[in-house]
Amino acid sequence: MKIGFLRSPDDSRCPLSTMALTKFEKLGFEVHVERGLGTSIGISFPSIEVDRELILSTADIICSVSPIPEVIQGKARSNMIVVSFYQPYVPNFDSDQFSHVQAKIFSLDMIPRSTLAQSMDALSAMASLAGYKAVLLAAEKLPRLFPMMMTASGAIRPANVLILGAGVAGLQAIATARRLGARVEAFDVRSAVREEVKSLGAKFVEVEGATEDKAAGGYAVEQTEEYKRKQKEAIAASVKKADVVITTAQIRGRTAPILVTEDMIKAMSPGSVIIDMASSTGGNVELIEDKAEVIKHGVMLIGDSHLYLYAKRDASDLLANIFYNYVSQFIREGQIKIDEENPILTSSLIHPKA
Ligand code: NAD
Repeated sequence: MKIGFLRSPDDSRCPLSTMALTKFEKLGFEVHVERGLGTSIGISFPSIEVDRELILSTADIICSVSPIPEVIQGKARSNMIVVSFYQPYVPNFDSDQFSHVQAKIFSLDMIPRSTLAQSMDALSAMASLAGYKAVLLAAEKLPRLFPMMMTASGAIRPANVLILGAGVAGLQAIATARRLGARVEAFDVRSAVREEVKSLGAKFVEVEGATEDKAAGGYAVEQTEEYKRKQKEAIAASVKKADVVITTAQIRGRTAPILVTEDMIKAMSPGSVIIDMASSTGGNVELIEDKAEVIKHGVMLIGDSHLYLYAKRDASDLLANIFYNYVSQFIREGQIKIDEENPILTSSLIHPKA
């Protein structure tokens, strides 16, 4: 059994670690990596580095952090298994691009949000890192400190931090901002997170009448107009007193909801900072620009949905575990086998579709 790891020029994360390499070998794999894999995080795999072409022509399974162009160009063999991140849930995703592809393509971002699949949940792992980094970035940019501080020349009040969306990233952001000594408020349409928010020492912004759908698999769903109006009022009051706002609210497969309007930004104190982690899907903040830092009405707006890249070493180690945990699902009695009863594999197989 041969497995190969390819480089992704547009992503600095590495999908293999030395620890995962040992585990793959124990599982019975001969492992090859494309020359230079790991350079971006300062590691190398001297004895197993080969040319990309060799991997594409010999591996049974190929793994990559981002889609592999050669697969769509029809260069993947028919019995090959491709594992990467394809985001097939985005609205403009073109599934016809695979029509002539003979290999089987699995997208790691499609695994179910079940207890069994948790160790392969890359989105959650990256969201945790990003939530942490968002707070550090905001603390760096804010012309104030986060904690209350008593000095001989006077007292400094703690910074007010507002987190919108208390999923994986939001909860990590709350915990981090609290550790740094800020006063934290948080809001989410899922009332179930109220207790989690409170247990982290933050105040939950209450808005009644949210629509929740258990069938949505843990994801938020579209809300009524009446609810949106009440939510807007509550958020406006919290944004006005916030020094930092971090937004993480996403609805899978749809444009992110606007939660912070231009009027709300105008009401903030100059020097305040907003970090929008949903900017790649439209953003939660009016005037936000994805992958950019701009100042509007005296407020710094940062749009970045890939803040985990600031922790590329940890992100790589976690991804390596995730690729290992996922690929080991294919191994049955020492052989590669696609178990059609395994929901982790069936839900992440994006081509060919049953
Ligand atoms: P996400 O990235 O899809 O969204 C971030 C947060 O924004 C969510 O909490 C969502 O409810 C919230 N949100 C959406 N629209 C909003 C709006 N209009 N206003 C305010 N908030 C809004 O979510 P996520 O971080 O991936 O996690 C969602 C849930 O799924 C969490 O409860 C998480 O614990 C759960 N989860 C479970 C598993 C598992 O069981 N394996 C894995 C990952 C996440």
